[in-house]
Amino acid sequence: MPTLLWFKRDLRLSDHPALRHALELGAPVPVYIFEPAYWQQDDVSGRQFAFLRESVLALRDDLRALGSDLVIRCGDAVAVLEALRAETGATQLVSHEETGNAWTFARDQSVAGWARARGVEWVELPQSGVKRRLDTRDRWAAKRNAFVGQAPLLPPRALPPVDLASDAVPTADDYGLQDTCPERQTGGRAQAEALLHSFHTERGQDYRRAMSTPLEGATACSRLSPHLAFGTLSVREAVQETASRQRALRGTRSGWLGSLKSFQSRLAWRDHFMQKLEDEPELEWRCLHRAYEGLRPAMPDPARYDAWAKGETGVPFVDACMRSLIATGWLNFRMRSMLMSFASYHLWLPWQRTGKHLARLFTDYEPGIHWSQTQMQSGTTGINTLRIYNPIKQGSDQDPTGAFTRRWCPELADVPDALLQEPWKHDGSRAYPPPIVDVPAAARSARDAIWAVRREAGFGSEAARVVKKHASRKDPQRHFVNDRAPRKARKSGDQRQMKLDL
Ligand SMILES: Cc1cc2nc3c(=O)[nH]c(=O)nc-3n(C[C@H](O)[C@H](O)[C@H](O)COP(=O)(O)OP(=O)(O)OC[C@H]3O[C@@H](n4cnc5c(N)ncnc54)[C@H](O)[C@@H]3O)c2cc1C
Repeated sequence: MPTLLWFKRDLRLSDHPALRHALELGAPVPVYIFEPAYWQQDDVSGRQFAFLRESVLALRDDLRALGSDLVIRCGDAVAVLEALRAETGATQLVSHEETGNAWTFARDQSVAGWARARGVEWVELPQSGVKRRLDTRDRWAAKRNAFVGQAPLLPPRALPPVDLASDAVPTADDYGLQDTCPERQTGGRAQAEALLHSFHTERGQDYRRAMSTPLEGATACSRLSPHLAFGTLSVREAVQETASRQRALRGTRSGWLGSLKSFQSRLAWRDHFMQKLEDEPELEWRCLHRAYEGLRPAMPDPARYDAWAKGETGVPFVDACMRSLIATGWLNFRMRSMLMSFASYHLWLPWQRTGKHLARLFTDYEPGIHWSQTQMQSGTTGINTLRIYNPIKQGSDQDPTGAFTRRWCPELADVPDALLQEPWKHDGSRAYPPPIVDVPAAARSARDAIWAVRREAGFGSEAARVVKKHASRKDPQRHFVNDRAPRKARKSGDQRQMKLDL
């Protein structure tokens, strides 16, 4: 009996629990559905589509090499699945659980309703440490580690043939997705394997130190994020391959071990942040700590928003980071944080809108990581230490030679190195805009507004709710659980918690 195997954000054959299960149930019919309505959402983009398309085509090649095929259909998922049910007589549907945006969540609910109505059994399996229907965060890390600690599943050696028609593979133009990203990463399993290998053997040695800088980080970071997001590599494969490299390097003193340990932590953060969206889908649009709702205007100031979104704020390091992101589809973690922090604090823009702009620009858009981080860098979780990045200091620290800033802001060519991050102090440069805000004054005003909310009655009980539902149990001291800062932080004073990166 055929079993429909629905590929979603899991475009690989290795370590694929859904494929393994479909094989146990019967002859798998691998299916990928291009969903035009998804590509009309305002948090997705052409660069993501292009990466996905390459990955789907590579998957089809891999399936064909095993004797199977990938049935590619376009349209509404329920309509496509119903047509496939009618064509094949399948009564089983297998896929992985997806922690996606509100649109994919609603689509999955529709598919579940269709499956029930048609008597189709839909089995959804986990492919990472994210737990569905989690009742408590206690012992979550142990459960996650147990999942990623298992050996990855091997790909099958052969698959039964499939004889079903496919639709033409749509192009970005078909969906009206105009998005030039000249330095975008390429999709496909082979690229994921090559990146993991080069990170483990050449690029990753200096990862721990270099990850914070946008130039060096582009090589020293793994660059696996779009592959993990679209599933050309599983997080378990990344964890296990890294663990085996760590074992091989044990006893050496080259910097490798520290870097690989940091990398493993980030793979764990991935699951940790995705679990938050799995547990509370509303965090895509509502402040995690409810007291912050309505603090910023719902509609962004158009001039500020436009300047930020295009990289024309007049603050060089912010503009260089934004322009680089527009051209490459990638930015290192610290600079993503700074872009978000500048939008949310200095420009006082609503994170729901600026977060969508960044989501579109990231080839690796992963809603669970993205919305959790967006809120963290906007100060709306209510439980994390606030960090207001100073873009002038970040520019000097993370781009000391000015090479990155000069590459992306050529208008600053005549500004001397010493004033590169503050060109408004230089008489010469006219091509570059003046700063859109007074950077230190805007940071202070944002800090005061956020801090005022933290002093309100009832802040602590809501923060306690957020901690209980979402916080890592590893270091509860780091979180605010009442109206005062946690014990460790109290020693250094509440104001120090509102870290102004001046
Ligand atoms: C505002 C903001 C939005 C972000 N949005 C996304 C997003 O949409 N998709 C995305 O994959 N990452 C996002 N990140 C997290 C992080 O910046 C990227 O994962 C990282 O820069 C990707 O590059 P890399 O693969 O070379 O990372 P590496 O440093 O090599 O890390 C390996 C993997 O670990 C995970 N990871 C790394 N850092 C984090 C983190 N801080 N939190 C959770 N997981 C992490 C990612 O899956 C990453 O691919 C965001 C960060 C911020 C501040």
